[in-house]
Amino acid sequence: MRFCIHRGTREIGGTCVEIESQGKRIVLDVGLPLDVVDKDAMPLHPVPGFDKPEPSLLGVVISHPHQDHYGLAHRLPEETTLLIGEAARSILEAADDFTPAGLKLKNVIHLEDRLPIERGPFTITPYLVDHSAYDSYAVLIESDGKRLFYSGDFRAHGRKSQTVERLIADPPRDVDILLMEGTTLGRSGVKSGFSTEDDLVDRFVEFFKKFDGLALVWASGQNIDRIVTLYKACRRSRRLLILDLYTAHVLRATGNSRIPQADWKDIRIFLPSSQKWRIIQNQTFELSHVFRPYRIFPEQLAAEAGRSVMLFRPSMIRDFEKIEGLKIGQLICSVWGGYLEDDRNISLLDWLMRRVIPLDHCHTSGHADVTILQRFREAFTGALLVPVHSKKTETMASMFLPSKILEDGEWFSIGGEENGKEV
Ligand SMILES: [Zn+2]
Repeated sequence: MRFCIHRGTREIGGTCVEIESQGKRIVLDVGLPLDVVDKDAMPLHPVPGFDKPEPSLLGVVISHPHQDHYGLAHRLPEETTLLIGEAARSILEAADDFTPAGLKLKNVIHLEDRLPIERGPFTITPYLVDHSAYDSYAVLIESDGKRLFYSGDFRAHGRKSQTVERLIADPPRDVDILLMEGTTLGRSGVKSGFSTEDDLVDRFVEFFKKFDGLALVWASGQNIDRIVTLYKACRRSRRLLILDLYTAHVLRATGNSRIPQADWKDIRIFLPSSQKWRIIQNQTFELSHVFRPYRIFPEQLAAEAGRSVMLFRPSMIRDFEKIEGLKIGQLICSVWGGYLEDDRNISLLDWLMRRVIPLDHCHTSGHADVTILQRFREAFTGALLVPVHSKKTETMASMFLPSKILEDGEWFSIGGEENGKEV
């Protein structure tokens, strides 16, 4: 068995790993690099079967529904077999009704926690992990008596932390190669550990006390852990949680009745004009019909503002400007802080200044801190670590010995002579 990291040895995102055994191949992730401006002009990774069908390509695993892992999947031949979690697939399909980042998938095999899948010479075993994307997996690939473990993206301070703790306590044995992510290396605060989602509940509750009026929280509708956090903070603050229709659609797509849903009594659904236009454009009127009983309309929003928290995205500003007497108390930024520095959000900062709306931050990373990375690596005794999904490749290689740095496009035979040493 041999493998090649086509992209991702020295960057966060854009990950694509090809694994070959007995002339057959599988691929782990087909990510869009984070810094790509024109995603349709970006060349596909040089994998036979990506530009036209090729029977030796037995499948492409999508570890989780984040664009830096699936973002080029829409350009693969239609007949390509994709392996992805069932809820992850539903979320991408729901997102496709509203955003260009969504995806409708054909030819799918669902990944299920610890359920091995046989594809030609490969056995693929997914392990559910904790991450800011719902339904995220690490995978074990076995063939020719060799074993490669790919961590995907993970953390252990979210709402599924026990999945990672279980993996660390009882990892697959005799793994030869560990492809581990190291996103947070080099970022501040990683040594002291990150806040948990439950820590954020406490902080949101304190923020909501500080100002009168509607509390806006900017968070991703696909960060399900964060929506749960917000819901808990709203319950404790006796506030309604107002979600946009797109987020309600994504929550429903998870198929999980234990996470906040539109029909819960302390949740309301708002339909921003941008989403309304999308429904009209796509003629998906059943969507607005399904959520109609739970809607809060612009004319009701001003009256409910003082006892509500609303999930926010910058495109909603034009909706708020049309509502007379709407008192907005604060905006809490619950996404990566870098988004605020993006030129596209200058108008958001202008709006906050003009309306004298205080801005606060309440967020935690989707990725593991150094302590967890260390424990994760140590669980795979004897495996050679190959860094992926990190900008600190050298740091990772020196911290997590034994290790080997590979460059993008370089093939590596597991146990092969051509590498100059036995693994
Ligand atoms: Zn990623």
